[in-house]
Amino acid sequence: MQTNGSADSEALSALRGEVRAWLKENMPTGWREAMTGVEQEAFVALQRDWFGKLVGAGYATPHWPAGWPGGGRSLAEQKVIYEEVARADAPRLIMYFVALYHAACTLIECGSQEQKDKYLPGILKGEVWCQGFSEPNAGSDLASLRTRAELKGDRYVINGQKIWSTMAQYADRCLLLARSGPSDPPQGGLVYLLADMRAKGVTVRPIHQITGDDEFCEVFFDDVEVPVEDRIGEDGAGWAVAQTTLASERGLTLVELSLRMRYALPRFRDVMQAQGRLDDPILRRDLGALTAKVHAACAVADRYLLKRIAGDEQVGDASIVKLCYSRTLRDFVSLGQRMAGLEGQYDVAFMRGATQETGHWALDFMNSYNWTIAGGSDEVQRNILSERMLGMPREPKAWRL
Ligand SMILES: Cc1cc2nc3c(=O)[nH]c(=O)nc-3n(C[C@H](O)[C@H](O)[C@H](O)COP(=O)(O)OP(=O)(O)OC[C@H]3O[C@@H](n4cnc5c(N)ncnc54)[C@H](O)[C@@H]3O)c2cc1C
Repeated sequence: MQTNGSADSEALSALRGEVRAWLKENMPTGWREAMTGVEQEAFVALQRDWFGKLVGAGYATPHWPAGWPGGGRSLAEQKVIYEEVARADAPRLIMYFVALYHAACTLIECGSQEQKDKYLPGILKGEVWCQGFSEPNAGSDLASLRTRAELKGDRYVINGQKIWSTMAQYADRCLLLARSGPSDPPQGGLVYLLADMRAKGVTVRPIHQITGDDEFCEVFFDDVEVPVEDRIGEDGAGWAVAQTTLASERGLTLVELSLRMRYALPRFRDVMQAQGRLDDPILRRDLGALTAKVHAACAVADRYLLKRIAGDEQVGDASIVKLCYSRTLRDFVSLGQRMAGLEGQYDVAFMRGATQETGHWALDFMNSYNWTIAGGSDEVQRNILSERMLGMPREPKAWRL
């Protein structure tokens, strides 16, 4: 896989130069400092502005199909764009990743033409989407969810509660997984709906986190109506549609994040230099080992992207990407904390819109756990690999209760 200017073909080099020049001109300068310790309003304003610019330039949607602005890019072109954005340390589109990846990939793969025409333009205009899958008693065991979707005439009536819905306080739409039929087997009887977050009966309550953020929310649905035409797939086939959403969360999102981790590696060298420890043999050994791991995680993400584009994705492929990323991120942060010493234990300046490698190590440490849980915990990914990829025996039923 080509990763730098000198190895690129002429066309890729030209694209790389274009993206790099555009970022130099348009990227908000000093955004890390500006986003440290600020209220959410400032963060939202930055996200909206940056989203508009990236979409306008066609760099927010390289993974969308041809025919859509910015879409139809080859794998190599997508990678060039992700790499340059990561290299420039541009703000992450945290408010929009559910719309750009989870919602868009689900609509593109499973939605009808009418649904694509209805919703994809809204995403490009800046509609925020959230994901309403998890419930207080249905996280890892997602299929046991209880939010009801009762079909009444030409609409579903929704009652229930979702939790951990990222950025739901700003969301216009929700990818909602609910139960419309029997729960035996639990994966049957589910329906996948596109719910309007402004509809009557929707209540959103942000959850305040230890980091100072309120990134995710509880969402309550009380007799909320969703028209039948906003259902993706058949009634009862919601589980299969949800797998598409989860695959984009576990795989595609992490291609960009893995690259961001790679481009954050020089931060360690800077710290070692500032501390006069460039020759420290232990740190050199550990940084070498980490560098190899980070590059391996990027290679795994690359391979996933290749398989996905070739239509050759297998059960478990996205889980491998997620496991590699989450474990490597934990190692990354733990080396950072170790290098920073005492300061790495108490410096918790909160930075909005950053990745998990801000260099504020105590904060990064807390955030590094996100990816061992979000989109299915590490244990659940290992279960998928052992049971569904390797065909090993399923765990005893009693553990599931
Ligand atoms: C940063 C973040 C963002 C998120 N965003 C969203 C979102 O936008 N929308 C959404 O719907 N959800 C979201 N989630 C929720 C996430 O999907 C769930 O937290 C996750 O699926 C785990 O569910 P749980 O929290 O209920 O934990 P539980 O399922 O209760 O798990 C608790 C522990 O038990 C372990 N465990 C559970 N079952 C097994 C098993 N069978 N074998 C071995 N170990 C097991 C788990 O690994 C975990 O360590 C987010 C979570 C995080 C951390």
